[in-house]
Amino acid sequence: METVIDNNVLHDAFDREHLWHPYTSTIDPLPTYKVDSARGARLRLADGRELIDGMSSWWAACHGYNHPAINSAVETQIKKMSHVMFGGLTHDPAIELGKLLLEIAPPSMHNIFYADSGSVAIEVAMKMAVQASVAKSGDHRKTNFVTIRSGYHGDTWNAMSVCDPVTGMHGAFGPALPIRYFAPAPSTPFGAEWNPADIEPLEKIIAGHCDELAALILEPVVQGAGGMRFYHPQYLVEARKLCDRYGIYLIFDEIATGFWRTGRWFAWEHAGVQPDIMCIGKGLTAGYMTMSAVLTTRDVADTISKGEAGVMMHGPTFMANPLACAVAVASVRLLKSQDMASRVAKLESQMKSLLAPARELPQVKEVRVLGSIGVIEMMEPVNVGEFQVKCVERGIWVRPFGRNVYIMPPYVISDEDLETLCREMINCIR
Ligand SMILES: *Cc1c(COP(=O)(O)O)cnc(C)c1O
Repeated sequence: METVIDNNVLHDAFDREHLWHPYTSTIDPLPTYKVDSARGARLRLADGRELIDGMSSWWAACHGYNHPAINSAVETQIKKMSHVMFGGLTHDPAIELGKLLLEIAPPSMHNIFYADSGSVAIEVAMKMAVQASVAKSGDHRKTNFVTIRSGYHGDTWNAMSVCDPVTGMHGAFGPALPIRYFAPAPSTPFGAEWNPADIEPLEKIIAGHCDELAALILEPVVQGAGGMRFYHPQYLVEARKLCDRYGIYLIFDEIATGFWRTGRWFAWEHAGVQPDIMCIGKGLTAGYMTMSAVLTTRDVADTISKGEAGVMMHGPTFMANPLACAVAVASVRLLKSQDMASRVAKLESQMKSLLAPARELPQVKEVRVLGSIGVIEMMEPVNVGEFQVKCVERGIWVRPFGRNVYIMPPYVISDEDLETLCREMINCIR
């Protein structure tokens, strides 16, 4: 099938006719651009045009594309074995990665479950919380969840059930989804003065329903795909107190925030409070392949093992895939070998000044930057298709959602490319 250029968009006719892309219509699909290769912070389209990447392929490609150290880790591992089952077998990549993760995770984390993707990590974390909660309390009613609005936790069934009910998929799936408890999204912004009233609605829900709750699940500090919101870390301190007082577990979804996105290894560090269960993914494998992990405390792990089932009830076919583990080991080592705190602090201050001019535009509601995440929130929802055509014409890759035009570039982006990315993004808004 041929590639056709229409309105300056590179369509592949087969792709358009047969391949489903994320959240797209088959009748009226959004434009798709064919990528031939990628290197550093640049994507090369099939017609030779180069785009500066502002998305890190949905938060994942933290070291950019085609990184020699990670490529070499894949090549070395593939010659040994691509995969072996994890039931009854183990291997160095899994062990090495586990050791590295425990060095960088909250100190209370002790047991690691490798899963397939972010959404599956959320499923596993929720199953862990239910198994542990029932085992600990002996009460089969303690199986529900509370979360905060504007969250995003993935696209599988239980993950959807704790996504924001408005921007999430509750409308489409309605009564097919389990019913969860939703507190309002935290309203004190990151960097503002903490308003103690912010935690009261959550306290009310937890106090009123703790006998049916297994856990509170939320994204610490940064709410990503549910709204690109940055909230006050004190919310997490208060949430931890509530979970302890009312006997429910606390799950942090660090799938988007992990691996230095917010200027720390993980976002919990902004608050200094540790979860009982933590999910990581996306940047874990540097955008090379799909893998996630769920980390938990010895207490949660042992409670599950003393419970009715006696084991954690999950075990995917590709658990601890050696190729993915080898990639993750190489990526974490790269991050450890660099002064990432300074690197991300520099990106943050650059983006703060480069995005500031957008504040003057009447279409713009707010501009905010945290770590290597820069958000321009618009007054009105953005037409993604039209916006992307403009971006590609200007040589950048940015994919907005809702009212948010945002970037989280690969950490390897050059000063020059970052300047062009920010300037052209603002021009596209203009
Ligand atoms: C992307 C994301 C997920 C889901 O991860 P997938 O790998 O897409 O399944 C879950 N939680 C958060 C916070 C995310 O950003």
